[in-house]
Amino acid sequence: MKKKNKKLIDKKGLRMDGRKPDELRSVKLEVGILPNADGSAYIEMGKNKILAAVYGPKEMHPKHLARSDRMVLRCRYHMAPFSVQERKSPAPSRREVEISKVIRDSLVPAIFVENYPRTGIDLFIEVLQADGGTRCAGITAAALAIAEAGIPMRDLVVACAAGKVDETIVLDLMDTEDKVGSADVPVALMPNLNAITLLQMDGILNPDEFEEALNLALKGCKKIYEMQREALKTKYVNLKEVEEQ
Ligand code: UDP
Repeated sequence: MKKKNKKLIDKKGLRMDGRKPDELRSVKLEVGILPNADGSAYIEMGKNKILAAVYGPKEMHPKHLARSDRMVLRCRYHMAPFSVQERKSPAPSRREVEISKVIRDSLVPAIFVENYPRTGIDLFIEVLQADGGTRCAGITAAALAIAEAGIPMRDLVVACAAGKVDETIVLDLMDTEDKVGSADVPVALMPNLNAITLLQMDGILNPDEFEEALNLALKGCKKIYEMQREALKTKYVNLKEVEEQ
């Protein structure tokens, strides 16, 4: 449930961190940062700092979880106790269990799971610092980690939220906007297939506001997708340079 509105947009129409309503926070993406993982990525989105690590495809343990016709994606989204101002218990909360599920469901459509029967991949999303929109940032990093692991994908998956604060539809809500604003709509997109794989809404929007927020979130996704592509390219250009030396 959202808390009561307070002033989040100033007289000039700017948000608390100086952004315009349709502006993303600054995004930094890095691919291949954990040598022990098969694939990994790191994202900074504003003050969010999140790691994604992928292990597999490998034999499923316990075996009864394996599926004879597809690969199983196991996902654990976890917030470190020090990732928020008020210490969070390291034990998995209901929120983390839910977010792990929606992240998994947003990524599976992009993976050729049918090509790897009886196997599994483990995806870990570790939030080191949280400032709103961590499920979206986690999905964006996770898709890069899966790609880096060499797991065949139909498309990348990129995610971004939009919402409503002070009667204005805004892109990429930070923590205060998420908590004090009146609605938050996280969206994940397979950009080339133009297919939405996650759509949630917390708060209240009328149909026109919802459509505006959805379109704004999709615009944000497309911008972040370009950064995802750049991050992947950078990783492989760097590898090529090392090999050529
Ligand atoms: N948050 C927090 N303590 C918690 C859980 C969340 O301070 O135990 C903050 C954190 O900054 C998070 C934000 O609340 O990013 C919004 O959480 P939400 O459940 O909406 O998920 P998110 O927007 O991160 O996907």
